[in-house]
Amino acid sequence: MTLDTAWAVRWIRASAAVVSEHRVELITLDRDIGDGDHGENLDRGFSAVLPKLDDLADDATPADALKLVATTLISTVGGAAGPLYGTAYLKAAGAIAGQAELDGAAIVALLTAARDGVVLRGKAAPGDKTMVDAWTPAVDAAAAALSNGSDEAGILDAAATAAEAGARATEPLVAHKGRASYLGERAIGHRDPGAQSSALLLRSAADAATDS
Ligand code: ADP
Ligand code: MG
Repeated sequence: MTLDTAWAVRWIRASAAVVSEHRVELITLDRDIGDGDHGENLDRGFSAVLPKLDDLADDATPADALKLVATTLISTVGGAAGPLYGTAYLKAAGAIAGQAELDGAAIVALLTAARDGVVLRGKAAPGDKTMVDAWTPAVDAAAAALSNGSDEAGILDAAATAAEAGARATEPLVAHKGRASYLGERAIGHRDPGAQSSALLLRSAADAATDS
């Protein structure tokens, strides 16, 4: 079963719901090692996307839906995460441009382009205690699932599970990028908020692939 625009729209709606549900958790994580605005910023951004989904054309592709997320997040989220996520969704859309149905290879290409967009924009490496620590294991797990013959839902589930583990694995790290890097060793013991929100967004993508 390939994934279509209806999947992309379910993913975006699920993302908005999960970011709203976890708003306080993300604020608390960012308060511990940043300035406390991450949950607020993302909730504002995804809430702003929702009404725009109704204006998508009937023949819109998954890329059109992701581009809508990109432009909205860039203009409404601010902070570090706005441009980082905006670039991720824009590059993800570019990787699947023109495709009405996404197979497993297209899903891996989408996730890879999103991660590459975050790295291009923020220049963080794995282990720097950023959202890259969720995205990179997610991309690796998705590619492995594809080569093991998993279907699209299985690939997204593998990506989400790896992102959740990657987010947890940021806890013992010192941060080398973003506001948390000002804290030095005081960031140890705290989970990176952007890695946590990335895991939530990837879990939403997987959930959207199993319900219709
Ligand atoms: P700000 O730090 O401007 O308040 P947010 O709180 O919205 O922005 O987002 C913070 C998150 O952004 C961090 O938890 C981290 O995951 C991510 N981040 C910050 N700088 C970078 C970077 N250079 N590369 C990748 N991710 C980054
Ligand atoms: Mg912040």
